Amino acid sequence: METLIYIWLLRLSFLLAAVVFVTLFFFNAPYGRHRRPGWGFVIPSRVGWLVMEAPAAVLFAALFWVGDAPKNSVTISFLILWEAHYIHRAFIYPLRIADGENRMPVSVPIMAFVFNLGNAALNAHYLFSLSGGYAESWLLDPRFMLGVLVFWTGYGINRWADRVLLRLRRTRPTSYQVPYGGLYRWISCPNYLGEILEWMGWALATWSLPGLAFAVWTFANLAPRARAHHRWYRGNFAEYPNERKALIPGVW
Ligand code: NDP
Repeated sequence: METLIYIWLLRLSFLLAAVVFVTLFFFNAPYGRHRRPGWGFVIPSRVGWLVMEAPAAVLFAALFWVGDAPKNSVTISFLILWEAHYIHRAFIYPLRIADGENRMPVSVPIMAFVFNLGNAALNAHYLFSLSGGYAESWLLDPRFMLGVLVFWTGYGINRWADRVLLRLRRTRPTSYQVPYGGLYRWISCPNYLGEILEWMGWALATWSLPGLAFAVWTFANLAPRARAHHRWYRGNFAEYPNERKALIPGVW
């Protein structure tokens, strides 16, 4: 019964990701440069990021702890990957956002809070209970090794690209500037590309359907937003580099 419920929740997750993907091409999540009135009262962005991301860090670790699959170097590796991302996103990134007037409507962290709880539960329950565990030999499986490599590559790109933007934000707290250098030469949103790579790597390393669902969700969320950011840059900066694409260098 528990497995049946899990399977239906997973199917629902894939279905919702498809709905979100299509919807987000017509409507931008109302935070950052796309913020607009009508989405509830606003709260400091720092608080929003903490509230929406912390549950994923805490719940995943708790389910690792109580899960009945053997705790070995593979499951500990999964824990390290997940927490490397979420401890940064929930507890460090919010402190690095320029303080000032940065606000988001409360509906954004509420929706993300629900997603993060569900996503952490689906992934951790599978990895640390339903899967029955992973043999130590999985560490040498090409899927694991390539997945981990892709994850850390994405992680590095995401951290670097966010750092560039936060530095620009600090130099001019109330306006946007055109970012230059590194991957910004080719695309508008290397932070989103990095994030998508991270969870593609996760899907590969865990070789699991909830891992795949998370990668699909991340793409569904961030590809339309990358397109919106790209159009916004083009509309707001006459000098915006013509050859720059939105998300995939040389392609789109
Ligand atoms: P953005 O790129 O829109 O903004 C990141 C930060 O940089 C914000 O503080 C923003 O300020 C500032 N900024 C952005 N562009 C400029 C610019 N041109 N000049 C000056 N400052 C700028 O990213 P998000 O806020 O959407 O996302 C932040 C992180 O969270 C990213 O790493 C992203 O990958 C991740 N994320 C992951 C999701 C997922 O589904 N897994 C979903 C959403 C985000 P301001 O707030 O004023 O715009």
